Amino acid sequence: MPHVVNGIGTWYWGKNNIVAHTARCEFCGAYQELTSFDTTLYFVVFFLPVIPLKRKRVFDQCPSCKRHRALPLKKWEQQKTESLMKAVEEWQAAPNNPEPAKKAITTAVAFHDKQAFEDMSVPIAQTFARNSEMQLFLGDAFDHFGDAEAADDRYRSALAIRNDPKTRRRYAAFLLRRLRRIHLPPAGAALRRAPVDRRAGGRRRRPGHGNDRAKPRDRHRLTREPEPRRHEGTKIHEDSFS
Ligand SMILES: [Zn+2]
Repeated sequence: MPHVVNGIGTWYWGKNNIVAHTARCEFCGAYQELTSFDTTLYFVVFFLPVIPLKRKRVFDQCPSCKRHRALPLKKWEQQKTESLMKAVEEWQAAPNNPEPAKKAITTAVAFHDKQAFEDMSVPIAQTFARNSEMQLFLGDAFDHFGDAEAADDRYRSALAIRNDPKTRRRYAAFLLRRLRRIHLPPAGAALRRAPVDRRAGGRRRRPGHGNDRAKPRDRHRLTREPEPRRHEGTKIHEDSFS
């Protein structure tokens, strides 16, 4: 669990393979843009990364409460490769059977592999062009990856095949999710609230201010990286299922 006291402790540094989707945070219940990414847990001194400790995959980090789940990156990549290979093989062995096709899609979604999903979505959409359930399923997956336009196409295809109350409800639910996303607070708004610095008369401390302990050449980096909180004892929560 990343934890910094008086500038010394552990902190995540760097974000790669970022995937974001809008959903309810399982910890605080806020409807937010949750992000998942590869990162490195560092030992930090005066908020600067000094020793890389381990590489991690962070899941669904909430910008409001900062909580998330995490798995060692190596384990995550190994599981992802094995699961995707197995799911794709099973789908290829029976390409006209909807169940393995759905399994392949859910595996790509579960492992945040947008590219793998997009690659399989084209043949699956064509094979099951008359299957409204599969079109809805693809719509949900495109929506998960934040591709509202492609999602909308799939939901409309589903409606063209079967315009029943169930299909209309699924499309309406998507439209509502999209509406909510448009009215979300700006991404990272909670993150940008810098901690109050009591020495500076209660003003919020920002990188680059006179009381910033970092050297000038480090300031640009501090503004880009998530900033550790400076209150003593403040903890950033992490629940790990590793
Ligand atoms: Zn939350």
